Amino acid sequence: MDIHNKIASSATVAIHTLAQQKKARGEEVFNFSAGDPNLPIHPAVASGIQKALDGKDCSYAPLFGLPELRKGVAAWMNRRYECNYTQENVLVTCGGKFALFAALDLLVSPGDEVLIPAPYWPSYPTLVEHAKAKAVIVPVSPENGWKVTTDDLMKYRTERTKVLILNHPNNPTGAMYTRKELEAILKVAGDNDWTVISDEVYSEIYYDQSRFVSCGSFPKWQERVVVIQSCSKNFGMTGLRVGFALGPVELISAMGSLQGQTTTGTSVFSQWAAYSAIEHADTVSASMRTQMQERRDLFMQTLNSLFSCDLAPPASALYAFVPTSALTTEPIRSQAFCEKILSEGNIATVPGSAFGMEGYVRFAFTESLDHIEKGLNALKTVLQKRAP
Ligand code: PLP
Repeated sequence: MDIHNKIASSATVAIHTLAQQKKARGEEVFNFSAGDPNLPIHPAVASGIQKALDGKDCSYAPLFGLPELRKGVAAWMNRRYECNYTQENVLVTCGGKFALFAALDLLVSPGDEVLIPAPYWPSYPTLVEHAKAKAVIVPVSPENGWKVTTDDLMKYRTERTKVLILNHPNNPTGAMYTRKELEAILKVAGDNDWTVISDEVYSEIYYDQSRFVSCGSFPKWQERVVVIQSCSKNFGMTGLRVGFALGPVELISAMGSLQGQTTTGTSVFSQWAAYSAIEHADTVSASMRTQMQERRDLFMQTLNSLFSCDLAPPASALYAFVPTSALTTEPIRSQAFCEKILSEGNIATVPGSAFGMEGYVRFAFTESLDHIEKGLNALKTVLQKRAP
């Protein structure tokens, strides 16, 4: 059996690992690859871990998560995004990633089809295929603000369509949907008997006048929607591995059974840290937003000025999805572009091809401010060297 054919490795994790290895060898690396907020632990999060340590309890947490945390997450979603969840609707998982894995594993059967608007987060098609279903890619254009329309969905749906994965705020484009747009998409899903997996792990990372609307906030469609949430980006806790699935009790209960046969949930210390983050949610995520906005603004200003372009800043999340044509006149595939700038300038980025969109490159603007400037100047130098 060829085990390598069983599951593809993550493109973003692979590049991030390469960048970390270079760093460990003492090289200066500009790591624009992973969406890791790169900030010191917030005091509210640290105090949650400290309280757990003081309690001296490191036994198994309840399978579905600490009751205090489940209750807190439901209350946070209800208050912040006008949802209507109770603790029974919440499963605490080992990151948003496991919540996605468990939801897909339970919702689809071999041969079923899952609609995935592209550009997409690279794990979606891999997880769908791992569940023996078919990933049906729905291309979305920048002319429509990188948002999928109901017409797009109807064009790609078939009798076998079971699930739509919607990701907003979007990684890699930063696109966010309005209430009206979501309402129309959920109606199409309802009419066609699909479940919507709404990946909302960047819900607190939005900028300027943007406003986030959760797919969990439509009472009419509540039984059709599974919201994936996470503490990773919203509260700057990537390494603590806490995510949540919010959805109909029956599905959440089955996902809990899958969790019981696999991870047994995430660490109890991480769950107390998450509890504290949720208790101070507005303060912690406001601090994330402010710091990320500063990085986003510097990144976009520097990029636009160095490359004489006029790219609009993303409305949300942690990424700039940049057309390679804005950076070089040379026709080059995104994978080759990223390999070149990594080998010649130690600049780590992710090719658009990994997100199902050739011709683009994704920069995570999560580096420190001075490294953002230095890294973009290094990029300019590498690309100038390459000019004929
Ligand atoms: N969904 C999206 C769109 C992401 O970008 C990520 C992480 O980068 C995740 C889910 C998973 O996040 P985590 O497992 O750290 O909660």
